[in-house]
Amino acid sequence: MRKEFWKNIPLNKLTKKEWESLCDGCGKCCLNKFQKTKKSLPIYTSIACKFLNIKKCTCTVYKNRKKKRSDCLILSAENLEKMARWLPQSCSYRLIFENKELPNWHHLLNDKYKNVHNTNNSVRNFAINENYIDFSDFLLSFKKKI
Ligand code: SF4
Ligand code: SF4
Repeated sequence: MRKEFWKNIPLNKLTKKEWESLCDGCGKCCLNKFQKTKKSLPIYTSIACKFLNIKKCTCTVYKNRKKKRSDCLILSAENLEKMARWLPQSCSYRLIFENKELPNWHHLLNDKYKNVHNTNNSVRNFAINENYIDFSDFLLSFKKKI
């Protein structure tokens, strides 16, 4: 990967590896979210997609994720402008889109992939698999502003 590519190269010119490496592995985008109205910003819950490995914060069906889950949000340089508002404020793609710095715990800055968990910036310690949720309790569940 090219040196500090996230600072110097437009997102639509990144290699696939560079693009994928931007992801901090927080798992936040795999939490269920809802809107009060069509125009309102999403409210995140602590209820994770059933395909998220919560301990690792990785997708267990990554290559087939769109087939397995039709509402899975697949980011690209082309759709980022449209999707950014749906992403957590800490999401690396959103930060770069908004011309902000990556956080100092990001693995691209220090090569420590566990930092996202060790600094409590992933969903590892609070997410709940949706398979264990009664969705009639959905609105009563924890709402976390992220
Ligand atoms: S919220 Fe952004 S940085 Fe976090 S896992 Fe999703 S795509 Fe990656
Ligand atoms: S299918 Fe995978 S990437 Fe998509 S929301 Fe579920 S866990 Fe996340």
